[in-house]
Amino acid sequence: MQKDGIDAFAVNEVVSILSQIENVTLEREAPIAGLTRFRAGGHADVLVHPHTVESAIELIRVVQKSQLPLTIIGCASNVLVSDRGIRGVTCRLHPVLSAIRREGNRLFCQAGVSLHDVAAFAAKHSLGGVEFAAGIPGSIGGAVFMNAGAFGGSMSDVVQKTTFIDGDGCIRDVVGNDHDFGYRHSFFVSSEGAVILETELCLEHTDLSLIYEKMAENAYKRYRTQPLDAYSAGSAFRRPEGYFAGKLISDAGMKGYRRGNAGVSGKHAGFIVNYGGATAEEIAAVFRDVRAAVYEMEGVILMPEVRLIGEWDGDPFAFEC
Ligand SMILES: Cc1cc2nc3c(=O)[nH]c(=O)nc-3n(C[C@H](O)[C@H](O)[C@H](O)COP(=O)(O)OP(=O)(O)OC[C@H]3O[C@@H](n4cnc5c(N)ncnc54)[C@H](O)[C@@H]3O)c2cc1C
Repeated sequence: MQKDGIDAFAVNEVVSILSQIENVTLEREAPIAGLTRFRAGGHADVLVHPHTVESAIELIRVVQKSQLPLTIIGCASNVLVSDRGIRGVTCRLHPVLSAIRREGNRLFCQAGVSLHDVAAFAAKHSLGGVEFAAGIPGSIGGAVFMNAGAFGGSMSDVVQKTTFIDGDGCIRDVVGNDHDFGYRHSFFVSSEGAVILETELCLEHTDLSLIYEKMAENAYKRYRTQPLDAYSAGSAFRRPEGYFAGKLISDAGMKGYRRGNAGVSGKHAGFIVNYGGATAEEIAAVFRDVRAAVYEMEGVILMPEVRLIGEWDGDPFAFEC
């Protein structure tokens, strides 16, 4: 039997191998919406949580050999999952792969550790440099992938080395400039099949009171300006050169716009939100409406920052211009 081109027999075979790997929890037909910050999307054919780096490596190699699609998520705070769900195997690294180790001013963080925990751990050891990350609801793996940043800081400032498994199952390191960091870009965005396992951060010994002051200031700025209690994926769009997405969206009259159960936040126009019960398609429709309105009013094509996961028919963010 086939489901969107995926052979149920192949899935069964892979599941039987994966279920023999130690330190892996596995679920079939797993609902994904509740695991995402958008609270939308369908089921994953197979959802796995590896509890150790070794089990992650083993399971990733099994899936690679099987030719089934492999999808990686961390905290799923920057993704929109299709209502039709995710075919093949979805590997969720948060909250399971979340150990942090310190050597002097360097932190070794497994990919699933939350940025909040990294920032708290760093602060506890009077290490500065990741205060900007404390309020970003992602994992370190997702943050390196996206080169997440805020308030003038970004992962590129602190990441020294990243260990990953490549599309052929080989364990490799990327060091320094080879991360190819740019605005919401890293080497990993263009390295198909690469899965980040661990990242080394180089931080600076800093007075604890300065660290907490910065973190509190950042948290207050977020609280004042962002709809933190809403289901969203943060900034919906990349910053267009020479503009701010939020201002363009406001100027186009779309701040507070609502379509069904989804819409544009009335607090921050850069955030597209699920007001509760929205489907992924409804959310995608808001992306299209916003892009069309901004293009019509300002002539600027906004590019989504949110990444699409799962089975979609074409580009759900595409609008007619
Ligand atoms: C309220 C809110 C505020 C936010 N504020 C900010 C902000 O200030 N700055 C900012 O940059 N972002 C922000 N974000 C977006 C998001 O939190 C970040 O992009 C975050 O780093 C994503 O991490 P994640 O673990 O959730 O990744 P996911 O959403 O799970 O995944 C994002 C992408 O990374 C890939 N990926 C994840 N983990 C791995 C891995 N281990 N190996 C390979 N690929 C991987 C996924 O396949 C996917 O393509 C915000 C989001 C929300 C909801």
